[in-house]
Parts: sequence; structure tokens; C-alpha cells
Amino acid sequence: MSDKPSDTVFSKIIRRELPADIVYEDEICICFKDIMPVAPVHLLLIPKKCIPRLSDATASDSELLGHLMSKVGVIAKLQGIDDAFRVVVNNGAGACQTVFHLHLHIIAGRAMSWPPG
Ligand code: AMP
Repeated sequence: MSDKPSDTVFSKIIRRELPADIVYEDEICICFKDIMPVAPVHLLLIPKKCIPRLSDATASDSELLGHLMSKVGVIAKLQGIDDAFRVVVNNGAGACQTVFHLHLHIIAGRAMSWPPG
């Protein structure tokens, strides 16, 4: 496990202690708009269980991870971006992770380039 604190801003959003523009929620996950969007559509999809980094997930998290991935397309359709979007997971400070609660960035609405910076 990471030694990073697990009570992050995202836990506060889940507990409704911080406001967020929530676009999807179920018993496993919640998806809300990024507060500093890098594209016209920039969503964060997070599990309600706090896994600090993707690399902290274990085999017991397989169902949860599958649930998140399966909801990406559902949310993309709801948002009307299912034709073209990018999913990014930053893992660790060296990869620009700043909030240590696993999250999938869902980004769309502008031209993308590859490789990412
Ligand atoms: P990362 O750098 O991959 O850890 O991404 C963290 C993301 O969380 C950034 O894109 C931030 O803009 C976003 N963020 C931080 N605080 C909030 C918040 N209170 N509500 C929505 N998004 C947030």
C-alpha cells in the first residue's frame, strides 16, 4: 500500500463534505466534473473505496476495477462523447498524480495528440 493519506478531497466529495458537479453515481463509484478541466469535457470517475493508486489495487479489487471500466462507456454515452474520448490514470507523483485516490480522467471535446506529454 502507498503511505499517502487516504482521506483526500475525493473522499470529502463522496461524503458530500465538498461540493462537486456529479454526473453519475452508483453504489460502487461516482463521476464528477474536474475543477480544473483540460478539455471541454473533463470528468473524474472514482471508486467509493479509496485505493490510493492504481498500483495499490489487488486481485480483490478486480470486480471494482471492471465496474469502473464498464461505466466509462455508459458515462461517455450519457455525456454525448462516446465517439471520441481519452481515459487517463496518473499513477504516482512522478506521473503527475496529485490526488491519492484512484481516479480515471475522462477527457473529450477537443483534438488530441499522441504521445501524451
Ligand atoms: P491527478 O493529477 O491525476 O491526481 O488528478 C487530480 C485531478 O483532480 C486534477 O485534474 C484536479 O483538477 C482535480 N481536482 C482536485 N480537486 C478537485 C475538486 N475539489 N473537484 C473536482 N476536481 C478536483
